Amino acid sequence: MQSDHSNKMDGMVAIVTGASRGLGRAIAKEFAAEGAKVVVSARRDSPTGLPGTAVETATQIRDQGGEAMALTCDVSNEEQVVSMVNQTIDRYGQIDVLVNNAGVMVLGDTILDIDPEKWDRSVAANLRGPYLCCRSVLPWMIERGRGSIIHIGSRMGSDHDQGGGVLYSSTKAAVHMFSYCLADEVREHNIAVNILSPGGLKTEGSAAIPWTQRDWDQRVEPEAVGPSAVYLALQDASTFTGQYVLRAEFGETWGV
Ligand code: NAP
Repeated sequence: MQSDHSNKMDGMVAIVTGASRGLGRAIAKEFAAEGAKVVVSARRDSPTGLPGTAVETATQIRDQGGEAMALTCDVSNEEQVVSMVNQTIDRYGQIDVLVNNAGVMVLGDTILDIDPEKWDRSVAANLRGPYLCCRSVLPWMIERGRGSIIHIGSRMGSDHDQGGGVLYSSTKAAVHMFSYCLADEVREHNIAVNILSPGGLKTEGSAAIPWTQRDWDQRVEPEAVGPSAVYLALQDASTFTGQYVLRAEFGETWGV
C-alpha cells in the first residue's frame, strides 16, 4: 500500500456505511491503506443520481492492494442491515470498527419546503440508520470485548447559526446525543463511541446542494478526514470515548 501509511489497522475489520462516494469512500480507502479489511456499503440503486457505487469503491481499494467487500445496504432497512452484518461475519469473522457515515444532507430548505416524506427519509437515514447498524454490530463487539463506533456528526447539530436548518440540524443533534448515551451504555464492554465532525467538505453530495456554494472555497476534500477517522477507529472505551471532536482540530486539541 501507499508508503505514507503504516498498517495501523492491520488485522482489523471495519464497516463503512454510505461508502459509494464522498466521505464514506475516503474513510474506507484510508482504512484499507492502513491494513484494515473494509466492508463498504450503500444502496443498490441510489435515488440521488449522484456518481459512485460501493462496488467501485471496493474495486479502487483492491486496485491499490487493499482488502474490501462491497455490500448492498440501505441503512434504514433492518433486514438489509442485519444481512450486511451477517455477511461481514461470514467473510471476516469479526467486526472491530463501525463508521455510521451514510446520511442525507438537506441544507437551505425551510420547514415549508420539507414535506413529510423528505422528513422521514432524512430521519430514517441519519438516525434510524445508525441505531439499526449499532444494534446489529454491538453483539459481535461485545463478544470480542472491544470495538470502536464512529458517528459522523456536524457543527450544524450543535449550532443553529451554522444554517443547517430544521431537518438536517435536528437529525445531527440527535446523532450526537445518541452517541453520548450509547457511549455510556457500552463502556462496560470496552467499546468506544465517538462523534467526528468533519467540517465542510467538497463531496459529490455537497456539490449537488446550491446552499454549499456560499462557503465552497473553505471546504476541504474528504480525504483530509482520513487520519482522524483512523485515530478514532483505534480507540476503545479505556482510551477515548463519548467525545465530539472536530476534524480541523485533530492533532491539536485531541489525538495528539
Ligand atoms: P454524499 O456525497 O451525499 O454521500 C452520502 C453517502 O451516504 C452515499 O454513499 C450514499 O449512498 C449514502 N446514503 C445516503 N442515504 C443512505 C441510506 N439510506 N442507506 C445507505 N446509504 C445511504 O455525502 P457526504 O458529503 O459524503 O456525507 C457523508 C456524511 O458526512 C453524512 O452523514 C453527512 O451528513 C456528513 N457530513 C458531511 C459534510 C459535508 O460537508 N459534506 C459535513 C458534515 C457532515 P447511495 O446514495 O449510493 O446509496
